[in-house]
Amino acid sequence: MIANYGYKDGSGEYYISIDTDKCIDCAAGRACLEACPKQMFEVITDDYDDEVIWVKKPNCRTLAYDCSACKPAAGYASLPCTAACTPGAIKHSW
Ligand code: SF4
Ligand code: SF4
Repeated sequence: MIANYGYKDGSGEYYISIDTDKCIDCAAGRACLEACPKQMFEVITDDYDDEVIWVKKPNCRTLAYDCSACKPAAGYASLPCTAACTPGAIKHSW
């Protein structure tokens, strides 16, 4: 399942999507948990009793601000979260 976390406002849409099927047997040792400097990822048990990752609730309302250090206006080559998640489960909408 693709789960989307975030919001949209007058300035744009800010969502992180997680392909939770890839989290169930994570091939990266749940590297996302350590990689994010804001520690916004968390393991939860979903409705199917699978352990997957989500974005912590408070971060879902402040993603643009929380991720700004990883996304300087001058540009960036990669993000800690997507680089750490070698299965490719994490995507950003902006
Ligand atoms: S590293 Fe990627 S696949 Fe593994 S638990 Fe984190 S988000 Fe899921
Ligand atoms: S861009 Fe940075 S702060 Fe945002 S989720 Fe990824 S690692 Fe965390």
